[in-house]
Amino acid sequence: MSSEETARIGVLALQGDVREHARALAAAGAEAVEVRRPEELAAVDGLVLPGGESTTIGRLLRIFGLLDPLRAAVGDGLPVYGSCAGMILLAQDVLDGRPDQPLIGGLDVVVRRNAFGRQVDSFEADLEVEGLTGPPLHAVFIRAPWVEKAGDGVTVLARVGEHPVAVRQGHLLATSFHPELTGDIRMHELFVDLVARRLARG
Ligand code: GLN
Repeated sequence: MSSEETARIGVLALQGDVREHARALAAAGAEAVEVRRPEELAAVDGLVLPGGESTTIGRLLRIFGLLDPLRAAVGDGLPVYGSCAGMILLAQDVLDGRPDQPLIGGLDVVVRRNAFGRQVDSFEADLEVEGLTGPPLHAVFIRAPWVEKAGDGVTVLARVGEHPVAVRQGHLLATSFHPELTGDIRMHELFVDLVARRLARG
């Protein structure tokens, strides 16, 4: 980490691989805490949105009173990393979503939900990810979205074929895949570093 201060990073704990993300964040040098309430959100330097079912997580965000605080936090520059359903929640718009599914938004992309189709519900791939050193990243995709359209401010970090599956826009990071499942913590390190840089800037 580039800051002397330990980054306190939340994991949205409504659904998904909460413990796995927390473990990876801790291994990457952060203090990991679970976030379920607005007060807990207010106390973190960054947040991970795990995968799961974006429609369900969106509904729970509303029920837990987190949707508007999260939108405000993203607008205020809180670093957020969304994985799979988390990527969908961060997107400005979703294709093949449910018409009533709430999004947090902020990331200037349109994503396609369940984009890889039924035949390939789940698959694994070795990806070159911009910003990561070492061998290709082994990535696990589970009913994953891809980025269909990205705005000018969005950097594509990795693709499967021509489709972006990892993107960054300033303080926002999103991947179609689940980095918490492989034991390779480089995506979490990238995010912890992003959070630490923001902390160091004050
Ligand atoms: N298909 C799920 C959705 O639409 C995402 C899957 C995942 O997070 N593994 O939200």
